[in-house]
Amino acid sequence: MSDEALARLDQEISECRKCPRLVAWREQVAATRRAAFRDEVYWGRPVPGLGPADAHIAILGLAPAAHGGNRTGRIFTGDRSGDVLFAALHRAGLANQPTSVHRDDGLKLLDTRIFAAVRCAPPDNAPTPAERDTCAPWLYRELGLIRPTLRVVIALGAFAWNAFWPALRQVYGEQPRPRPSFGHAAEWHGPISLLGCYHVSQQNTFTGRLTPAMLDGVLDRAKQLVGQ
Ligand code: SF4
Repeated sequence: MSDEALARLDQEISECRKCPRLVAWREQVAATRRAAFRDEVYWGRPVPGLGPADAHIAILGLAPAAHGGNRTGRIFTGDRSGDVLFAALHRAGLANQPTSVHRDDGLKLLDTRIFAAVRCAPPDNAPTPAERDTCAPWLYRELGLIRPTLRVVIALGAFAWNAFWPALRQVYGEQPRPRPSFGHAAEWHGPISLLGCYHVSQQNTFTGRLTPAMLDGVLDRAKQLVGQ
């Protein structure tokens, strides 16, 4: 699998306009902006994946944040969720720096690829089932490209966990019955492994539902599964 093929997919994704409601929302947010970012030019487009094409670990999120990824153009970048996630990735040795602020800040992921089940920021962080399904083929294609090295997917939250199964069927031809239920530190093992992790949302991290130690535990488990 080549970096060029993944870069071409990233470019295609960033030009997608298949979901009218999400296109309108992402562009409206980009035009109106939040006061704190009023001097910035928002990305306002779908947010592609981040990380090397030969990653062994993937992190699957829900969707970009309106003033995070939708502003900076990089997944989980420029918001509190990303602050928590990238700090943990750095502690785990999976990122070269603990922060992700903008697209040119020098961040490099190590053996890890991050992407979302829905690539455009949705109102209230809630895509519709139709939007989820419309966006799913991008996930199928991305998984297909990184499949040769991919060994573990970490699903951040139940939405990502549930988005994984159609992708597993599509890309790997596997369909476990019944589907395993989401939970923090839940595991499923097939042609690749799936780990559950509470989402790094502010609601979860501010309330202590997801602590840094819990996040570290899931990343350590992923590293163990890929032999690191
Ligand atoms: S959510 Fe996905 S399918 Fe819909 S417009 Fe954005 S990138 Fe395209």
